[in-house]
Amino acid sequence: MTNRRKFIKKAALGSVAISSLYTHASNTNEDVSTKNLLKTNVIKKPIIISTWRHGLAANEEAWQQLKNKKPTLDAIVSGVGIPEGDPEVRSVGYGGLPDREGKVTLDACIMDYNSDCGSVSFLQGIKHPIAVAKKVLEETPHVMLTGKGALQFALEKGFEEENLLTEKSEKRWKKWLEDSKYKPVINIENHDTISMLVLDEEGNLYGGCTTSGAAWKMHGRVGDSPIIGAGLFLDNEVGAAAATGLGEAVIRTAGSAMVVELMRQGKSPTEACKEIVERIYKKHLNHKDMAYLQVGFIAVNKQGEHGGYSIRPGFNYAVYDEEKGNRMEKAASKIVRKKD
Ligand code: ASP
Repeated sequence: MTNRRKFIKKAALGSVAISSLYTHASNTNEDVSTKNLLKTNVIKKPIIISTWRHGLAANEEAWQQLKNKKPTLDAIVSGVGIPEGDPEVRSVGYGGLPDREGKVTLDACIMDYNSDCGSVSFLQGIKHPIAVAKKVLEETPHVMLTGKGALQFALEKGFEEENLLTEKSEKRWKKWLEDSKYKPVINIENHDTISMLVLDEEGNLYGGCTTSGAAWKMHGRVGDSPIIGAGLFLDNEVGAAAATGLGEAVIRTAGSAMVVELMRQGKSPTEACKEIVERIYKKHLNHKDMAYLQVGFIAVNKQGEHGGYSIRPGFNYAVYDEEKGNRMEKAASKIVRKKD
């Protein structure tokens, strides 16, 4: 056989293999979506889910925006803008706990059903980083702007620079400076990002995530929250997921993207969150971060089913839908309290 004939034969075999692979893959997808449809009651849209208790106020605002027919991205910006602007929420925006140099540095990202996304990281002096992230999505050819460049862009877009370090947060920082030990405390104020996922009335998925990150972090540290695929991910064919907790662990495992992939394979949102939490737990068993490792995910699929799961107990999320209104849902965890 000449080389050319061998090549043609190989190529033909290759394309048979590839086309059988594709047939198989699309069959699998059909099976999955049919399975999902069959096991799901049709849930009335929209549905909004957000991490932690400050998610209630965020959901409330976003819900009102949706009911007033505002675009879903705007609803997310206004919704998570509530904890961003609340000085009593010490893990997001204004009043967020600073890094070890006393600087409040913010991370945020936003994503829509078209897979368009915008993100800002290591942004200082701007109260609503999520609104800047939306501008990055809409008005730049890029996905992420960081540090001084992000600030310059925000100022050009008319955002005002202001001091985000409140007296209370400064006091906490000064107290921390007394022995300057970096000891993250699980589930207590010092790292509780707000992530919001929306399945809107049209059945399209959107998500946003905003945080001041881990308190007392090194200056310049960026966590998972502004990283598409880590702190937030969605695929409009499948579902959306978002993370909270130790950003380094979420980045190491491409957390939110993995949760979405498991939903694509037919797992429910809770099952998908659980499997990735367990993977993260296992990967950190002999890791220095294990002592204080907390990670939680929330997820919603195209049918409006939602779920959450975390490594340690105490994680919860707010859900708003037409049927039951705005309420907190407790997420199950890998590690349980003795009395649970
Ligand atoms: N994931 C955030 C970070 O590591 C913090 C958090 O969710 O509480 O920056």
